[in-house]
Amino acid sequence: MILPGAVIGVLGGGQLGRMFAIAARRMGYRVHTLSPDADTPTGQVADLEIIAPYEDLDAVRKFSAAVSVVTFEFENVPSATAQAAGAHAPVRPGGSILHTTQHRLREKTFLSGAGFPVTPYLAVRSAADLHDALQRLGRPAVLKTADFGYDGKGQALIGLEDNAEEAWRSIGGGEAVLEAFVDFERELSVVAARGLDGAFAHYGAIGNAHRNRILDVSVAPAGLPPALAAEAVEIARGVLEKLDVVGVLCVEFFLTRDGKLLINELAPRPHNSGHLTFDACVTSQFEQQLRAVCGLPLGSAELLRPAAMANLLGDLWRDGEPDWAAVCAYPSAKLHLYGKLAARPGRKMGHIAALAATAEEAETIVRAARTAATGGISRRPAPSAALR
Ligand code: AMP
Repeated sequence: MILPGAVIGVLGGGQLGRMFAIAARRMGYRVHTLSPDADTPTGQVADLEIIAPYEDLDAVRKFSAAVSVVTFEFENVPSATAQAAGAHAPVRPGGSILHTTQHRLREKTFLSGAGFPVTPYLAVRSAADLHDALQRLGRPAVLKTADFGYDGKGQALIGLEDNAEEAWRSIGGGEAVLEAFVDFERELSVVAARGLDGAFAHYGAIGNAHRNRILDVSVAPAGLPPALAAEAVEIARGVLEKLDVVGVLCVEFFLTRDGKLLINELAPRPHNSGHLTFDACVTSQFEQQLRAVCGLPLGSAELLRPAAMANLLGDLWRDGEPDWAAVCAYPSAKLHLYGKLAARPGRKMGHIAALAATAEEAETIVRAARTAATGGISRRPAPSAALR
């Protein structure tokens, strides 16, 4: 077991690492972070911020030699980096999980091969493949790059009339996946953790609303029929077990109009939809990640009260710094800002969470508090912000 006082290494410098570092420091751990940038959200909270490209394997080895365990907050860390980090300290979750989940085609091949329900898809490696795949899957369909996709980046929706060649060019060619368009009823996620001893903990089904393919609002509980919520959790349990995860992993689902759950994607780390666990659960997803990678018993994932979370994207800064006092005027709203220096459209800058008697009430509070931040004007991201 890696006990308080030890040093935890975090690859990546974003908000997930920041909230992980806050949880770790609260429990008396020290945190080192490595990423290519300076003054990162994680670095601002960590004991030590190392600035180096992930490809600088000497720097990665030096970093891992000074810590007891390495985890990551960013799944696009190259495999060679995870391998180099593993030379001196355990990497949790393991590098092979990163390898599977950072590539849509490998992830879908793993999931469908193991019998998990996924959106119908086909591999696409050329414009001719795309033409064939569209014949087989039909339109509309969504074309996604196999590599480095998140928050809807590297995606193109191909409608009934759209030109497939143009979509192929727009995602930059290369290896891709064509997915059938799912006319879903809702989007859901299950954030879950698995300990070194195989123990499992989960936060139940969380309901997610996206805007421009970026998560906008999450609510917990999702308010699903209990059997469906239990089914989502069992699928997540199966995925964590099959991948032999030690740490936190999020399974994102589409719930189809005929009540079927389809896995959209996996994130082998704490997830944006689990940010509300920071304020709303006995043990947050970040502390759970810490406990898991340290080999400690997992904590209770109990939801203290229904909760909601609204993301604060850079678009909110369009007319200058938002009015944080107006947010704080909502007594139950919890403001989280990630310390990012530049507010670009579509960039996740912070979030607001709230607990209330019902998830609907919590959602009303976070939406109202966010609108209050811009003087009552709802600042929606420009449609182009998230597309590529
Ligand atoms: P992703 O980056 O794959 O999670 O996609 C971001 C968002 O785009 C999802 O959360 C959905 O709202 C939407 N989306 C992605 N793939 C599909 C699909 N096959 N059918 C319908 N909507 C999709």
